[in-house]
Amino acid sequence: MLLRHTNAEVAPREALTVNPAKTCQPIGAMYAALGIRDCIPHSHGSQGCCAYHRSALSRHYKEPVLAATSSFTEGSSVFGGQANLLQGLETLFKVYKPRVVAVHTTCLSETIGDDISQIARKAREEGKVPPEGVVFHANTPSYVGSHVTGFASMVKKMVDSFSENTGTPNGRVNLVPGWVEPADMRELKRVAALLNVPITMFPDTSGVLDRALTGQYKLFPEGGATLEEIKSAGDSRYSLGLGPFASAPAVEALDSKCKVPGEVLDLPIGLAATDRFVDALRKAAGVPVPPALDYERGRVVDLLSDMQQYFYGKRVALWGDPDQLVSLCEYLLTLGMRPVYVVTGTPGKQFLERIHEVLKDIPEAKIQQGPSSDMYLLHQWIKQEKVDLLIGNSYGKYISRDEEIPFVRHGFPILDRVNHTYRPTVGYQGAINLALQVLDVFLEKKDREALEENFELIL
Ligand code: SF4
Repeated sequence: MLLRHTNAEVAPREALTVNPAKTCQPIGAMYAALGIRDCIPHSHGSQGCCAYHRSALSRHYKEPVLAATSSFTEGSSVFGGQANLLQGLETLFKVYKPRVVAVHTTCLSETIGDDISQIARKAREEGKVPPEGVVFHANTPSYVGSHVTGFASMVKKMVDSFSENTGTPNGRVNLVPGWVEPADMRELKRVAALLNVPITMFPDTSGVLDRALTGQYKLFPEGGATLEEIKSAGDSRYSLGLGPFASAPAVEALDSKCKVPGEVLDLPIGLAATDRFVDALRKAAGVPVPPALDYERGRVVDLLSDMQQYFYGKRVALWGDPDQLVSLCEYLLTLGMRPVYVVTGTPGKQFLERIHEVLKDIPEAKIQQGPSSDMYLLHQWIKQEKVDLLIGNSYGKYISRDEEIPFVRHGFPILDRVNHTYRPTVGYQGAINLALQVLDVFLEKKDREALEENFELIL
């Protein structure tokens, strides 16, 4: 019993968070920046912050994550990090020759109050940034928000810094994919191609954090949205943002800065959310839905109706990021399941409104949100009344083991599996993948626990 000290009795707690359901802003900023071609994310803070953020991403994606740091010392902590950032930018452009350096701040540099715009200007004036080099930044102090808000801030900064309305429409639809996996980004592009909709997607980490081993080393992988693509997003006809927390700021900036109208949808996880996504994409581009996509949808419906008896009525506990949780809960309801406990550490009141709306027919649902939301309370709820399934990041494996509850890994970080890198969970194909994952853990438990006389070969 790894979590033997967790008991069912919930005592009031204010100043103590045990196993928080979030991580820090710069991780999201770093992940977003990796979705730009030829870009090095730069962490303006201590080596420790950067090492943690890189290692979290490397462990999740099982890929080396490129990132630089201002390497604050005691001196920079007192007098500010300008000298370190100037030196860092000069070295980066001289030695590694990136096209873009995406700087994000940390708790320390934000507390000092370093002005990154001024430092970047000074670096250019002093010739430390070459004429073709680009530096932009996002403010990501970790004493507010979470990795999701850090991601959203960096994506918005891409629009603020690069997107332009040149007056010549390009006929494309912007797709701001939200914090999803590289496999999901590939899937979104595949669906758009099936619909024959020309899209500009940014950030795009496919081909960066799931790249092929070719035998040839390249510092900058071939994936990622190019600077030109992000720039021309200002000439698109429409923008679709997936996941309000991760994508709304960028979509709103495209509208206010470049006059590109747009809308923000739930992440297309599950049947209903994918229907809404396909419909919005179809309308934005003025195209019909091709039979091939209708057929994919039909395969999801077939799977769900064939396997309904295994899903129906099962109680589920979920934790993770708000955009993911809303769509996952909606999909679980489609499957006939009951999402009863939902926990996120990312603050933002629109989550509570949306999740209450989605779960309006589950009166027993308990929801916890905010910086002090944690896995400890989730475990206590589970001890009070058990669930049949856990869905969340790798940190749930301890609860799963102690309580013998089937566990589907989803979200960030996943440190002990690799499925997420290869199997999308968005779109109709993603809906099939998710349902199969859930089905597999249920059937494995059934086989494991069946009495000999009930042990069946056939489903
Ligand atoms: S919480 Fe702040 S100090 Fe800690 S790793 Fe994140 S950015 Fe660095």
